[in-house]
Amino acid sequence: MSEKFAFIGLGAMGSPLALHLAKSGADLTVFDVNAAAMTRIVDAGAKAAASLAEAVSGRDVVITCLPASKEVRAVILGPEGILAHVSPGTLIVDTSTVDPETTDDVAAAAMEAGCAFADSPIGRTVDLAEQGNALFMVGATSNDFGRLKPALEAMGSTVHHCGGPGTGIRTKLVNNFLAIASAQLSAEALALGAGLGLDVDAALSVVNDTTATNGHLARLWPVKVLAGDTDPGFTIELAYKDMCLVTDAARQSGVPVVMGGAARESLNLARRLKDYGQKDFSALLDVATEHAGLAPVRSGK
Ligand code: NAD
Repeated sequence: MSEKFAFIGLGAMGSPLALHLAKSGADLTVFDVNAAAMTRIVDAGAKAAASLAEAVSGRDVVITCLPASKEVRAVILGPEGILAHVSPGTLIVDTSTVDPETTDDVAAAAMEAGCAFADSPIGRTVDLAEQGNALFMVGATSNDFGRLKPALEAMGSTVHHCGGPGTGIRTKLVNNFLAIASAQLSAEALALGAGLGLDVDAALSVVNDTTATNGHLARLWPVKVLAGDTDPGFTIELAYKDMCLVTDAARQSGVPVVMGGAARESLNLARRLKDYGQKDFSALLDVATEHAGLAPVRSGK
């Protein structure tokens, strides 16, 4: 790839994406407020910047992977933000999960500055991103999509063009509504199994053999909460943020999401219990058993 890249935000998800971009041989600068987060990307060939301005100045494509709308607005639109330091023609790509209004505002500001913009939220889990198997759902013009696609293919394995700017983030909300509400349902169902005295592995072998199953239950939970590993991954706090985005978007578009409201408040309860907010969202199972006064459910026990 001949373009010069910058990557901002090297957390649980940004780190593996930037790592794969660096390993592809791309000319890459990186920046994170947590300097230690840059180390392994630099070891793979990227340059660490001392500031956001240094990271993005003179770059052709600037990719962000930040926690939420507030950080995305500050980092892209702020007085010392990305748009203040890049040249017209730069392609700004936000992979964060934010509210669609933030995406629309950032896209409009980028275009006003003579830049291009694509929203490219991420699907799948951190472990799959580490393996190079992240999925991207992209909102971009056809031209910008063509320009960005080689970099996305270097960072992940699957790229979907959803439509023009703003369609990627809206698709992400639909996706995460299903994924997160399903996780809450899975937690309650397995807690019920425990309450009924069932062996979890025997129950799962049935559930995973019918249409009751889902991707997290079949593939992720056996190596996360069911194996006693509740390190994130994708935190309960971020899952709560996403369910708030879902129900806000539903309210604004006049679509009732009854299950969405229940899932959001279940996540809200979970994040207020002990330190669950910073645990992997598969730990919803531990929250469900704790509420029921049951021992944690683990595979092989
Ligand atoms: P994270 O909290 O692990 O990482 C965020 C990173 O941004 C941190 O390293 C933080 O230091 C950095 N940061 C914050 N403010 C900054 C600033 N002003 N300048 C530079 N760096 C800054 O979060 P994550 O899990 O990597 O998630 C990032 C985004 O990707 C979120 O919007 C999340 O919803 C989305 N996402 C995450 C997953 C997942 O499984 N973790 C999956 C899909 C999508």
